[in-house]
Amino acid sequence: MSWDSVLLNPWPSDANLPSAIDQLFSSQREDWETFRQGVDALSSIRAKTLTHDGTRVVVQANPGRCKSTHAKTDAESVATRKCFLCPDNMPPQERGIAFGELVILPNPYPILRRHCTIPDREHRPQQLAGHVGTMLELANKIGPDMLVFYNGPRCGASAPDHFHFQACDAGSIPLFAEPLLTDSSTQPFAHESFGRRMLVFTDANASAIQEKIERAVAVLKEITASDEEPMLNLTARYRDGRYLVVLFPRAAHRPACYFSQEPERLAISPATLEMSGVLVVAEPEHFDRVDAETARNIYLEVSLDPSQFSQLLSRLR
Ligand SMILES: [Zn+2]
Repeated sequence: MSWDSVLLNPWPSDANLPSAIDQLFSSQREDWETFRQGVDALSSIRAKTLTHDGTRVVVQANPGRCKSTHAKTDAESVATRKCFLCPDNMPPQERGIAFGELVILPNPYPILRRHCTIPDREHRPQQLAGHVGTMLELANKIGPDMLVFYNGPRCGASAPDHFHFQACDAGSIPLFAEPLLTDSSTQPFAHESFGRRMLVFTDANASAIQEKIERAVAVLKEITASDEEPMLNLTARYRDGRYLVVLFPRAAHRPACYFSQEPERLAISPATLEMSGVLVVAEPEHFDRVDAETARNIYLEVSLDPSQFSQLLSRLR
């Protein structure tokens, strides 16, 4: 298959993106059984809410995420598998909407009811550089009910060889129910909850916030002495005329418990949605092992350490 056969065409040019996505999802429900089953499975999976200091995290036992949670992202494994974000390897029923050089596709193994994978049309590496402006534009056009996110190649992207964003329903994300900003300042803020350390940016102006995010990534790269892109997850939402962007600087891709032997092992591989409070456990039998203390320890372990985090903040302000 080529992108020509994946892209819905002609797409009504006056249709706004949120309604185009709604239509894509309802037509894919009709035509693509794997997708329909993946979405329907969400209503029968186990979930529970954990609380710590008044903040919430939802734990979800989602066996559909096994492939993604256990994705081998080392160079050799990636080189020997077929890229699932290239149209040649997509199921024939899969359809998408063009957004510039990106294609918005429904995720057949979702974490939330509306969950899109948004690859570049070209097979090129997962690298945020040069794409922050597009991410903000997408967040703006996709509307306040959805947020756009990016997983770094060493922080949860299961296709580190093919550039992609994702998008999902914003209303189901516990982090976005927290008061993320204490005033209307356009300086980046530190926000800490449930053991997570994150930087929050807000601005009405896309190029101003883009500059601040790019600077934060550059400073993070220096502080962590990374040769490649520093370890990070990023999420963006546009609402009431302002962008709200949360950057999660990371110290580790997977927590030690991921590599433990049974019965201590936990199939949790944190990416943006986990950092935002939807903690996916890919092996249902591990679900009961996750309590608030366990979740908090995982977040503490994979977040940038306190001294590097305060260096980052002080260099940005
Ligand atoms: Zn590809």
